[in-house]
Amino acid sequence: MIHAQDRAGGAPGDGYPDEPEDEVIRFEQVTKRYGRPGSAPAVGELTMGVRRGELVALVGPSGCGKSTILRMVNRLVEPTGGRVVVDGRDNAHVDAVALRRGIGYVIQAGGLLPHRTVRQNVATVPRLLGWDAAVVRTRTDELLELVGLDPWAHGDRYPAQLSGGQQQRVGVARALAADPPVLLMDEPFGAVDPVVRDRLQTEFRRIQQELGKTVLFVTHDLDEAVKLADRIAVFSVGGVLEQYAAPGTLLSDPASEFVVRFIGSDRGLRRLAVTPIRPEDLEHPLVLAPGDGVAYAATAMEVDGRSWALVLQGDPGRLVGWVPRGPLTEAMRRGERAGRVGDHVRPFDVTVQAVETMRTAFSTLLAQELRFLPVLDGEEFVGVLTPDVVHTALRRDVPA
Ligand code: ADP
Repeated sequence: MIHAQDRAGGAPGDGYPDEPEDEVIRFEQVTKRYGRPGSAPAVGELTMGVRRGELVALVGPSGCGKSTILRMVNRLVEPTGGRVVVDGRDNAHVDAVALRRGIGYVIQAGGLLPHRTVRQNVATVPRLLGWDAAVVRTRTDELLELVGLDPWAHGDRYPAQLSGGQQQRVGVARALAADPPVLLMDEPFGAVDPVVRDRLQTEFRRIQQELGKTVLFVTHDLDEAVKLADRIAVFSVGGVLEQYAAPGTLLSDPASEFVVRFIGSDRGLRRLAVTPIRPEDLEHPLVLAPGDGVAYAATAMEVDGRSWALVLQGDPGRLVGWVPRGPLTEAMRRGERAGRVGDHVRPFDVTVQAVETMRTAFSTLLAQELRFLPVLDGEEFVGVLTPDVVHTALRRDVPA
């Protein structure tokens, strides 16, 4: 909550509109010039806000001012003009050291102190805040577990004894130590290999949502932004805000020629990551039950025209597997009319959950031999995803 009395510098008539209630970080006409007055600004008259619990990614080409914008939030960089408001307080009126202790900060490779152990690194801010040693110890171990590290195995090691991914986890744990409402992250996963990065991203998003942290996140990797962010701010050089929108909107409706070029020709593929699996897009092939006779099944499949059918059990249908038409026709030819579909059923190696994105579904589809993939809602069968379904979903919002 923002309380009126906390609005230092927010007196009526100071020329700034009141910050909207739900914005935890707010830039108001913020300018930063590193050089002399009159030189080109690194950031020019930026106005934007980050809502409570939101993860906002700042993207744009190198040198466009992303880090400068981030570092003005914790006063590692002071603005030349305008104001930065954090949790209802004008930064200019808050002691910089106290401000930094109240904001988590994660940088590339974790930014850990090399001569301190993992536990000591994580405990840095709580100790500075004078927390009781036993409380700090419990908190530290809880946080290591939260970020997927075993406190007993890793707590007393030094950063150099950890992998890049583990160091990054410690960096996140340290930023969360004093339970700050706001986290600033500057290319946090930039130094780890793609496989580890993907896992760290997924885990971090889960933790962020679970804890309800407000996060401002700098990345040069648009795919990372699309995967993690609630909203993405695209900047051009000079800290000019070109577009500020949800990932899906950014990709389907870029606001300027600059954004179109920045998103690049992979736009369609990128959109897979933000395209939901819609039940109405899925295919509904012929469904058989394990108890159906082969004669009935063979005829039904002939009428259906497909070379396979799904096998579901019960109502609502639980997926048992699928049957190819060939063996059923064969059985009929041999006169084995007494057989059941259940004798010929083949299980699916993989399925996908309806809550996943098209990107997950499509890569799962590509990783297996079958050209169809069952989509489930928990245990319940929803429909079948095929390459055609992916195509239809992607084409839907493409402007003519
Ligand atoms: P990004 O994070 O998007 O790469 P930066 O915020 O680091 O961009 O830099 C924006 C601009 O400000 C660049 O032109 C950069 O050279 C300049 N700049 C950044 N930090 C400093 C500094 N400490 N002193 C002088 N110029 C700086």
